[in-house]
This record gives sequence, C-alpha cells and structure tokens, in this order.
Amino acid sequence: MLKIPLPASPLERRFALLAATLGFVLLALSIWLFRYQWVAYANAEHALTDLRIFRAILLAMEQVSVERGPSNAALGEALPLPPAQGQALLDARAESDRRIAGLLGQLEAPECGNCLSERDTVLRARDDLARARAEVDGLLRQPHGQRTGEALHRAADGMIRVMPPLSAIADVSAAKVDRGVPGALSRLLAARLAALLREQAGLLGSQLTPALGTNRQLNSTEQFAIERTLGTIAQLRALLQPRVLSDPELPQGAFQVVERQYFGAGLEYFSRVHALASLPGDAGVSSAEFVDHYVPSMGAITRFRDEILDLVERQVRAQRDTRLGWLGGIVAILSAVIVFLFLGVWLFRRQVVRPFADAARAIRAIAAGNLAVTLSSRPYRGEIRELFDAVQVLRGNAVERARLERERRQLIAELSRMAQTDALTGLFNRGAFDIRLKDACSGAGRRAGGQLLSLTLFDIDHFKRVNDKYGHATGDRALRRIAELSREVWREGDIVARIGGEEFAVLASVPACQDALDMAQQLRARLAATPLVADSGERFSIQASFGTAFVMPGEAQDADGLMRRADLLLYQAKQGGRDRIVAETVPPRP
Ligand code: GH3
Ligand code: MG
Ligand code: MG
Repeated sequence: MLKIPLPASPLERRFALLAATLGFVLLALSIWLFRYQWVAYANAEHALTDLRIFRAILLAMEQVSVERGPSNAALGEALPLPPAQGQALLDARAESDRRIAGLLGQLEAPECGNCLSERDTVLRARDDLARARAEVDGLLRQPHGQRTGEALHRAADGMIRVMPPLSAIADVSAAKVDRGVPGALSRLLAARLAALLREQAGLLGSQLTPALGTNRQLNSTEQFAIERTLGTIAQLRALLQPRVLSDPELPQGAFQVVERQYFGAGLEYFSRVHALASLPGDAGVSSAEFVDHYVPSMGAITRFRDEILDLVERQVRAQRDTRLGWLGGIVAILSAVIVFLFLGVWLFRRQVVRPFADAARAIRAIAAGNLAVTLSSRPYRGEIRELFDAVQVLRGNAVERARLERERRQLIAELSRMAQTDALTGLFNRGAFDIRLKDACSGAGRRAGGQLLSLTLFDIDHFKRVNDKYGHATGDRALRRIAELSREVWREGDIVARIGGEEFAVLASVPACQDALDMAQQLRARLAATPLVADSGERFSIQASFGTAFVMPGEAQDADGLMRRADLLLYQAKQGGRDRIVAETVPPRP
C-alpha cells in the first residue's frame, strides 16, 4: 500500500497544502476543459450519423418519388402491361424498398442513439407505401377503360402521402447536424430545397400522366393541381437561387446544370405537353413517352442535392477531425502541464522547501544543545548550499563552545579538588577539613538516629627522628602509608584529613564513643603490624598518639571548641607517654 509520509514541519505542511490546492484546481480545470472538448467532439461525431440519416431519408424520399414515374406510366398503359414497363415498376419498387431498408438500418444502428420515434415513422411510411402500391396493383389488374380518373388520383395521392412524415424526420435530422456543426443547417436546407424540388418535379410529372395515359384532356382539378405545383416549383427556385449565389461553397456548377436541364429544357418540354393536354382530345403523347423525356431532366436536381450533401459531409468530417485534433492537443497540453507542475512541485520541495525545513530543524536542535544533529549531505547549490554551510559553521562553533565549557568545568572541578586535597597523601587538607568540620558542627543538633560526632586528632610520635634517621623521602612514604591505612580503617562517609606536617584528623559519625575509639585502636594496631622499609632497607615501624573528642546527639558545639578539646586530648596522650589514645570521658546516657 502506498504510504504518504506526513510532512514534518509547518513549512512543509503549508507547502503540501498549497501544492495540493494548486493540483486540485488544475485537475478540475483539466477535467472541465477535457469534457468541454469531448462533448464538442462527440457532437461532431453524432452530426456525421445524423447527416447519414438525413441523406438516407432524402434518398428514400427521392426513390419513392421516382417510383411514381413507372407507377403512373403503367397505369396509363392498356392491358396487358408491356413487360418492359412492368419490369421498370418492379425495379423502382425494389429500389425504394432497398433505400427504406437502408434508412431503417441507419436508424437502428447503435450509434444513432435515441432514434426510435424516427424509426416508427419510417415503418408507418413503409406501410403507407405498401397500401398505395396495393391500390396501384388493383387498378393495374382492371382493363384500361374501367380505370376512373378518381381511382387513378387516389392511387397517385397514396404514393404522395408517404412523403410528409419522411420530410419531418429529415428536418429533425438537419437540425441535429447543425447542433454538432453550427452553420451546416443553411446548406442542409439547400439540399432539402433541392430534394423538395425533385419531389415537386416528380409530382408535376405524375399530375400530367393520368390524362396522357387515358388519352384525354386535363380536367379542371388536374389543371389547378398542375398550376399549384408549378407555383411551388417557382417558389423553390426563388428560394434556391439567392441561397446558392450567397454561398460560394455550394456547388455552383451543378446548380447551373439544374437551371439548364430542368428549369430550362425539362420545364419547356412539360409546358409543351401540358399545352397539348389542355386541348380537347388526345394530346398525342403517351405517358411513357412523356416519362422518357421529362424524368431525365430531373437527374440534375438529384446530382445538385448529392453534391451539397457531399459538401456538408466533408464539412462535418473536417469539424470532427478538428475537434479530435483539439481533444488530442488538449490532452497532450494538459498532461504536459500536469507533469511539469508535479515535477516542479517535487523539485521545489526537494531542493528548497525540505532543505530549508531541515536547516531550520538543525538550527533549532543546535540552539537546544543537540549537537549530534546530522546535516543533509545532498549536493545543494546556490543559497541553499550557503545556508547549509552557515549551519555547519554554526554547529562547529557550538561544538567548540561546548568543548570549551566542558574543559572549563573539568578545570574548575580539578582546581576545586586540588584546593581541598593534600598533595602528598591525597587526603583532604586543612582548609577542606575545617569547612567540613564547621558544617558538621552546625548540623550536629540536627543529626538523626542518635549518632554522635567524633573528632580524632592523631600525631606521629617522634617523626622528626624518622626524618632524621631514614631521610625525608622515607618520612614522606611513612606519611602516605598512614594515609592509606586511615582510608582503610575509616568508612566511606568519614572525613580523614592531613591537617599538619605529621598530624591527621578524622571526623566520623558513630553510634557510640567506643566505635570511634575502636577505629583509632585499629589504626594503632595496623601501624604496629605494618613495618615500613627505609631507603636503606632498614625496617621500622611508627606509632602515633590520639586524642578523641565527642559531640553528643542534639548537643551544640562550635568547630574551634571541638578542635581545641581534641588537641588537648592529643597533648595529654603525648604527655602520657605517646602511642596511646586519650578520649573524653562521656557521661553515660540517661
Ligand atoms: P612528637 O612526638 O612530640 O610529635 O615529636 P616529633 O618529632 O614528631 O615532633 P616535631 O614537631 O618536633 O617534629 C615534626 C617533624 O615532622 C618535623 C618535620 O621534619 C617533620 N615533618 C613535617 N612535615 C613533614 C613532611 O611533609 N615530610 C617529612 N618527611 N617530614 C615532615
Ligand atoms: Mg609528632
Ligand atoms: Mg606534630
């Protein structure tokens, strides 16, 4: 599991928060921008599907319109129907079915999305077409003479009724294309107008063929319908012309061909036949002949329409490719920005924030006396390097200062020890002893546990003679030996000092007077049992005289007084013949 260590210092935490906020904002912005581009791309991609549907609808409508040609031609023929015409009708119907099936296929494709209502409309139109065809087939089975004008109109109307619902879906699809590729609608309207023109042109032909088929004059209803259709065609032309002129991208050449072939030759031919059919009697033009002449002139309209559709398809594809390019570009730029940001943040944290925090930590540690703090050994540059160098110097100074301080304390301790110690024996000297004696006397009243204080002074007997006889060095050795034995005899807490040339003092807390005397006695015995060897190799032993005074528990006593008393007792020991202990006689305890 990935563990993100928490930044240790407030600076690092603040920086992490700032970086996280920046990252979050950038990420949110990136997601929004990506989504915006993605939606634009998806709309363009959808526009392509919608355009395919739009084209399929126009093609289906065109073919249903075309189918009316052979249908009407067949209705104009007497029985039996010439095989060529029968085949032409079957072919036209097969093509219509193929195109409607193609349209349904487009509407049922998964990329169409929500196209169910359009699909239902097409299915209904297909059923309407099937019914219209059945009506035509019913008439075709009747002898030519029995086909009434009304029945023929009904059959033609049935074919025409198929168109309006398909037109409605075409408009919806055009609007959808425009949503994905703004600006496409105007051109799709031109294509739509061209398709309507083709539709009206076909309708116009079908309005003339019943009269031609039955070799009769056009009746007033037919005349009215034809005039109306001609009016619609003129309107469509008036709508198309400025549109084509104002948009140079539209297929100008193909429109010129429409102008020449349909509005020119096609409509002129229609007018001639129309004029003939308006006269009483047979017009002298069979419906098949009319269809053969008139229908090809409409091909230019279809080509014009297809060229517009091709143009829009190129436009939609270009738009989609541009969007895809933008999408890719945005993804690349955003990825680069995010990578750079993360890299930048990482580098800044590594090379500035963290070293700075480390330096601050080190300075704090040095200030707090922690000189064992380790400094980063990374190869920093510039100001950060200088900062670490400065911290290094700071630590060096602190280490040096600490060393000097240690030495100073050691020196003071040594001096203090030396000031209290007798150089020859290592025992306390007179000064140190006096201080302790004073302390002991001032605290004597407070001594706990009923202990009494004993002060024993002892002086080596006839030491001058030792010096004189064995030399000063031997005398010194004798003094050191006495010191050693004294340290062995008295306990750790007792204070043994050399207070004069060959005069010693011991201050001890003892439960009873006898304990102090026992220890003095012990030293006497050890002195006697431990002969010394002179430089000359001669063996000799020394004795000492002892004077011991006591301070009773709870009794107050000044140091000088106690010293005097002990000195007097020592004097008495000397006077009494030396090599003995004279102690104060202590009254028995109550
Ligand atoms: P008493 O029994 O009366 O104490 O006789 P004493 O000879 O010990 O006393 P005295 O005071 O006459 O002599 C003390 C001698 O101790 C004199 C001196 O040479 C000797 N002495 C004092 N300090 C030292 C020292 O540090 N080293 C040596 N070797 N001798 C010392
Ligand atoms: Mg002496
Ligand atoms: Mg002496």
